[in-house]
Order: sequence, then structure tokens, then C-alpha cells
Amino acid sequence: MTKIDYFQGYPQNIRDQFEPLIKNGEVRSYLLNKYPIGHQINSDKQLYEYANKLKQSFMKKSPPITKVKYVKQKNLIFTALGDHTSISGKHEIRIAVCLKNAPEEMLQMLVVHELAHFQEKDHTRAFYNLCVHMQPDYCDVEVDTLLYQSMVDQDEKLY
Ligand SMILES: [Zn+2]
Repeated sequence: MTKIDYFQGYPQNIRDQFEPLIKNGEVRSYLLNKYPIGHQINSDKQLYEYANKLKQSFMKKSPPITKVKYVKQKNLIFTALGDHTSISGKHEIRIAVCLKNAPEEMLQMLVVHELAHFQEKDHTRAFYNLCVHMQPDYCDVEVDTLLYQSMVDQDEKLY
């Protein structure tokens, strides 16, 4: 089996802290302990309302969101290196369907990331500042979402 480097581009202290969880099969218990319950945002309509509420709270002046939907894809997250496919020009938000079975914080993190792209195209400091403005623990949740990705890759369920 090929070993995936989930923390590519992350500082060594992050690697030292979180790689052992993957290596020792402790990701699920770590995540369950931190996020005991999942969310109930299951339909595209609920997801749209959720995203729109965040947008109204923090980015009222940006153009409206065209569409928000769950899509079938295994890759939940762009990495720190920024390899995700942004379609921000269309003001459309697509969220991996595996996020239905994830903590709300992770769903929020992905929505916040996409919303921030409405304003900042690249992963600049201004971009991350905007993300943290919308979700103060954005960076922690990003790391936890990579851990969750490792579960999805193993076809493991969190809840
Ligand atoms: Zn991005």
C-alpha cells in the first residue's frame, strides 16, 4: 500500500503531533473525543442554507452564492500547497459527500475556505486571515480534516 503524506507542506511540529495518530490507528478515537457528534446538514438545500448563513454573517457584500452542493469525490481538502480545483469564479461551492458523516466544524471549514475564495483567489496570508475571521479555529480544523481524510481513504466511518 502506498503511504500518503497527509501533512505535506506542514511544519514538523504538526507532523510530530499528528502522524503517530495515523500510524497507530488512533485517528478515530482522537476525532470522536474532540467531536463527539456529527451534523445534520444532509441535503444540498440544507447545505446551501448553511453556507448562505455564513456568507450573510461575514461576507455580506460579496456577490450571492450561485449554487452549493455535495459532490462525489474522495478528496476532501486542498492541502497547504493549494492543489484543489477552485471554481470560485462561478461562486459555486462543492463539498465532498463524505463530509456528511463528519463534524460540523469540518463542514464549516470547507465552506469557509470556498467562501474566502470569493474574495481572495490564492492561498495568501489575506486569504487565511479571512478564513480565521470566519472560523477562529480554522487552522486546527484543517489539520483534523486531514486526519479525517485518512479515515475516508481507509473506508472507515467516524460516526
Ligand atoms: Zn483553496
